[in-house]
Amino acid sequence: MSLRLGAMLPEVLKHLFKKPATVQYPFKKIGVPKGFRGRPVMDPNLCIGCQMCVRDCPSEALEIRKESETTDETGKISKKFSMTFYLDRCSHCAQCEEICPKKAIHMDEQFEDAAFDRGSLKITYK
Ligand code: SF4
Ligand code: SF4
Repeated sequence: MSLRLGAMLPEVLKHLFKKPATVQYPFKKIGVPKGFRGRPVMDPNLCIGCQMCVRDCPSEALEIRKESETTDETGKISKKFSMTFYLDRCSHCAQCEEICPKKAIHMDEQFEDAAFDRGSLKITYK
């Protein structure tokens, strides 16, 4: 035992004066790496309602709904869509971001998804 303590002591003393290798999470946070896949976020103004993201999602974690349809005096039809993400089912694969032809979805840097109820993990963008 004394042999082991003797071997450890220089290492312990060396680390007494070093900065800690860990951070005091959750009081301090470190940034996420480039390309981190956090939560999917949608910009409804860019969505054309093609449903490709819904078809490609392996977790059935999103829905697209048509919210409104208007026709102007020239006969041009405008449609507005909303998107609902079920983050409790999302596997953060970013397939929806990749497949969207309008770049209406991006993955943010949020990683704190723990919740007491599933309802709070249902997020709608409109
Ligand atoms: S990140 Fe993956 S699992 Fe999550 S909503 Fe997009 S396609 Fe579905
Ligand atoms: S793939 Fe993009 S444009 Fe198509 S429904 Fe999904 S968010 Fe909208």
